[in-house]
Amino acid sequence: RNEIANFKNCKSIAIMGGTFDPIHYGHLVTAEAVRHRFQVDRVVFIPTGRPAHKADKQVTHNEHRYLMTVLATMRNENFEVSRIEIDRPGATYTIDTIEQLKEMCRPDVRLYFITGADAIHQIMNWKEPERLLTLCDFVAVTRPGYQKNRLFEEIGEIRDKFASRIHYMEVPALAISSSDIRERARKGMPIKYLLPQEVEDYIYKFGLYQDREKDEVKFM
Ligand code: ATP
Ligand code: MG
Repeated sequence: RNEIANFKNCKSIAIMGGTFDPIHYGHLVTAEAVRHRFQVDRVVFIPTGRPAHKADKQVTHNEHRYLMTVLATMRNENFEVSRIEIDRPGATYTIDTIEQLKEMCRPDVRLYFITGADAIHQIMNWKEPERLLTLCDFVAVTRPGYQKNRLFEEIGEIRDKFASRIHYMEVPALAISSSDIRERARKGMPIKYLLPQEVEDYIYKFGLYQDREKDEVKFM
């Protein structure tokens, strides 16, 4: 096995899943805010393998995304990066990831799954949403001023049953997205200060986001 992340002694873990193509300060600020608010021992960044709902989306090679995530998390001793999704063949389902992660932890570990508020709207479309909610809490990250009520209506079906397992948290509004960074890099616009310097260096060293054919793997 290639996994070097180790969570054996953690009582609580927050999971930050993402494509991380590339990872940026929006992800890092969110992860640190959740770590502090829920006082978790670790935040585990899990770069996605092949997302089931994005089967035709083009994504940069797994190993580049993994390494950029490692570089970006170097300076936080509470951040770790796991290979469980990128090393698992086939489509990625969150439920499988959570179960696999749980096997690597103490039996009484408390898990928090971090997701953008928009993704939680979709939760009923995920694989086995109810079982998922029995395995971990959800942290729906919103921007200040986000209409929480509207969000609550949209997840109506599971709201009553699982209200105590879904947490909302505002993080500072960061208008940073990976797609914007890719676009900027392609056009030769600055990406500095949107992501850690090491990740910027990596992008230029490997010429990522210049030629889509070269660094993308199309999963079909
Ligand atoms: P893309 O633009 O390619 O969709 P992204 O910037 O949204 O990429 P993802 O890897 O898709 O990044 O996001 C992983 C997780 O981080 C998701 O739960 C997403 O909601 C959250 N996230 C992304 N950008 C931010 C941001 N600027 N602030 C807070 N959370 C973010
Ligand atoms: Mg996104």
